[in-house]
Amino acid sequence: MASILEKLQKIVSDKYVTNDINIRHAYSRNTDLDLHGVPEYVIRPKDVKEISEILKVANEENIPIYQRGAGICEFGGSKPIGDVGIVLDMKRMDNIHNLDEDNLIVTVEAGISWGKVNEYLSQFGLYTGCMGPGSGMSASIGGGISHHSVGGGGCAKYGACTNQLVSLEVVLPTGDIIDTGSQANKYSKFPFNRFGNGPDLTGLFCGDQGIFGVKTKISLQVFPRPPFANYKTFLLPRKGNEVAAQIFTEIRKKGIDVYDAMYIIDLLVIVGAQEGMFPLWENLKRKRGIFFYTIEANTETELNEKVKLLDDILLSKKAEVFGPEIEDGNYAKWHYVEQGHWQTYHNLWGVWQAFQPLTAECFTPINMFPKILNDLDVWDNEHAEDFNRILNITGRRPLTTTGPVLLIDGNNVELTCGSSSFSSYYNGEYHEEIHETNIKIWKSLLERVTKWGAQWYMMGEVVSRLMVEIGAYQPEFYNAMKAIKKTLDPNAIVSRGKFNFR
Ligand SMILES: Cc1cc2nc3c(=O)[nH]c(=O)nc-3n(C[C@H](O)[C@H](O)[C@H](O)COP(=O)(O)OP(=O)(O)OC[C@H]3O[C@@H](n4cnc5c(N)ncnc54)[C@H](O)[C@@H]3O)c2cc1C
Repeated sequence: MASILEKLQKIVSDKYVTNDINIRHAYSRNTDLDLHGVPEYVIRPKDVKEISEILKVANEENIPIYQRGAGICEFGGSKPIGDVGIVLDMKRMDNIHNLDEDNLIVTVEAGISWGKVNEYLSQFGLYTGCMGPGSGMSASIGGGISHHSVGGGGCAKYGACTNQLVSLEVVLPTGDIIDTGSQANKYSKFPFNRFGNGPDLTGLFCGDQGIFGVKTKISLQVFPRPPFANYKTFLLPRKGNEVAAQIFTEIRKKGIDVYDAMYIIDLLVIVGAQEGMFPLWENLKRKRGIFFYTIEANTETELNEKVKLLDDILLSKKAEVFGPEIEDGNYAKWHYVEQGHWQTYHNLWGVWQAFQPLTAECFTPINMFPKILNDLDVWDNEHAEDFNRILNITGRRPLTTTGPVLLIDGNNVELTCGSSSFSSYYNGEYHEEIHETNIKIWKSLLERVTKWGAQWYMMGEVVSRLMVEIGAYQPEFYNAMKAIKKTLDPNAIVSRGKFNFR
């Protein structure tokens, strides 16, 4: 009888499947350094048919499958849960199928990056609106849709990337292939609308963390990039959290269609300037919170009107504007003109060697984020003993704070709060002690933020399971999700273990 490896080799050829120990270890982690799971096989399919066949083998053999785009989930979503299963690497599926210039829709394979799609669209004066996550230079469109990603620019105007989704081709866990939206009508020649032909099944797969199937083809709305834009950066007065929240709220209440609005807390400015992360602000005498906006328009007059409205809000809060050029400290210009939106977060991961964010990235209403941040100071004090244990080993205390706070759709922000700690790889001698402390701190932090009623978008292993373990789900909601999972994936093949489904 053929082994699992032989069956998989028959589908994709020897070159694209392996059980080599080195490669398996290379696929055993995502961005964080504390969650770990070594797969039994790694496979790199080229098309939807191969994925359908792989899923059929997985069902026959009762072996779980974990989809992986660029593998940069911050909560362990694209690596196995336990030392099991097959990692399905989507990165060979990175083609652009079609740009429908009349209907402004692009259709791509799920493994392509946001960067590659937008580079292609820019030749036509188009963009995806929301530019995916801040990791969009490498993060895949399939990963972004599975997370409701925001953060790579444009999300104040366009919302999370799932907002612009038109239709999906999905391989269900059993191997069946479906199309959603307008494509559910088998007579439809091309994707043009998401809603209709019955319930919004596209939505079922948005933010599903991969538990309902494998996305293979994705159609997104695209937008003409307006010819005029402005971008300004400001130094905030004291009490930056509260002031930033007031500015975000006023922008929304005045109905200004700002493209991006971001707040960077004073602590991050201080540490970032010290560590070379924000060289723009090294010489700043008063290192306070920073706020920036970017705004687009179709005419110069329209642009000037919008800029005036925005400046009036900021200046009324006693914010001080930086000069117009990047070297003047105008981070907003770097963000918009030089694609800083896809670079800004990367430095956070390497700010100190062996440091890793134990992050709690979530959506909250604007008026809730300052309260959460105040409470995280309290939480930090409550964990002094744990933090001191790491301080005693490493000479540096973990840091609790927030990364950039970003306006998204509605009256909401993306809050990238959390604690940064030394990873367990700091020093082999203390590996287990640091690992255990980090996991304990991280789960406690996630529980605290969950209890504020925050909404998770990227959940992976750790948040999806924690929500269940601390009883945060409304029971009826959880049971409904479980029933759908059971129907679509009776053997719990796809992303087994997330949300504790097995
Ligand atoms: C420096 C940095 C900055 C970041 N900035 C942001 C940010 O601003 N906003 C944000 O949202 N996130 C951010 N992230 C986290 C992450 O990169 C994004 O969420 C990104 O969208 C994940 O894409 P990916 O291709 O890496 O997906 P992966 O991590 O590979 O996968 C994500 C999840 O989707 C599933 N999945 C992947 N592909 C498919 C598919 N084809 N079908 C079904 N399921 C699939 C996986 O199983 C996993 O659960 C950042 C990470 C880093 C390291």
